[in-house]
Amino acid sequence: MDDRIRRLRSHLKALGRGKAPRGVRWIPGTVPSLLLPPPGCRYADRCPRVLDVCRQDRPASRAAAPDHEVACHAAELEHAAARG
Ligand code: SF4
Repeated sequence: MDDRIRRLRSHLKALGRGKAPRGVRWIPGTVPSLLLPPPGCRYADRCPRVLDVCRQDRPASRAAAPDHEVACHAAELEHAAARG
């Protein structure tokens, strides 16, 4: 079997069209539409930390460390609380 087909099948399994590969943690919910993405954070329907604002506003990206950016309302609140 072609390697590309094997990889495609593996990706489809990870998207919920089968059993998750061993060692892969299953995330409940569905992947948002790429053609009609939701207005807020694209992870809102699957995120255990979702806030009301997450469904309205897409979080802005900010530098969290050298070569590391974060775009998350919950992380932004934690960052603000840590700064006092
Ligand atoms: S912004 Fe952060 S907390 Fe909100 S849904 Fe997205 S990943 Fe979760």
